[in-house]
Amino acid sequence: MRERKPFVGGNWKMNTNRTTSADLTRGVIDALSSVNNAEIAIFPPFPYLLSVRSILRDRGSSIKLGAQDCYHKPDGAFTGEVSLDMLKDCGVQTVLVGHSERRHVIGESDEMINTKLRAVVDAGLIAILCIGETLDQRESGHTDPVNQRQLRTGLADVSADAFERIVIAYEPVWAIGTGKTATPEDAQDVHGKLRKLLAQMYNTDVAQRTRIIYGGSVKGANAEELFRQPDIDGGLIGGASLKAPEFAQIVKAASVTAAKT
Ligand code: PEP
Repeated sequence: MRERKPFVGGNWKMNTNRTTSADLTRGVIDALSSVNNAEIAIFPPFPYLLSVRSILRDRGSSIKLGAQDCYHKPDGAFTGEVSLDMLKDCGVQTVLVGHSERRHVIGESDEMINTKLRAVVDAGLIAILCIGETLDQRESGHTDPVNQRQLRTGLADVSADAFERIVIAYEPVWAIGTGKTATPEDAQDVHGKLRKLLAQMYNTDVAQRTRIIYGGSVKGANAEELFRQPDIDGGLIGGASLKAPEFAQIVKAASVTAAKT
């Protein structure tokens, strides 16, 4: 039995509507009612947070409610942004920070991501810090320096105590939404190096306790072989989280492998 409880998040991105977000929430709750050896979170679009929260609460579900992004300022003239107080008011417990689509489509910098991460942790919520190299960076041999830089800058001025509320998601950009997945060995190689870096930056206790999850075209069919790797502690799931049975299959793979390895 692994000491780190697996974490599996379903990132719905800019998908679903009022009806389908409710249906998906009910489907996920029903499909996962028997799983207790995994921490599960779903990340609906902002407009559906409250209705998804009501369903989770009415059904007594332990599935965490997540937000896909946040703004670090508490309030003020920041048109279009959503503060952590607002998210907490909606029952949000965990927030994605630095997702590759925020970095590469919206243009968030490492520094902005660090500011957001510190704000999430200070607000008492769980931050999922997403990092990962692009295809060009991988092909030019820069996978390790890119991930190390994103980890170091993402965690600048973050204390060891904050790791109670931090999960790292390694998500190679070339694998997100493309159907291409890192091989379990390649993913393990990066995860192992990230854990070593956490030990250098903090200490072995932080490195051993912190969940490092993998994201990038995880499916029901490939989840188990990824989660069997010693340093892969679950997944961040995009496309496959929009289908309750497949998301449940992935969560169960994390739960079963954690119990066996
Ligand atoms: C993601 O959105 O974080 C993700 C990994 O997407 P997908 O599973 O679709 O590749």
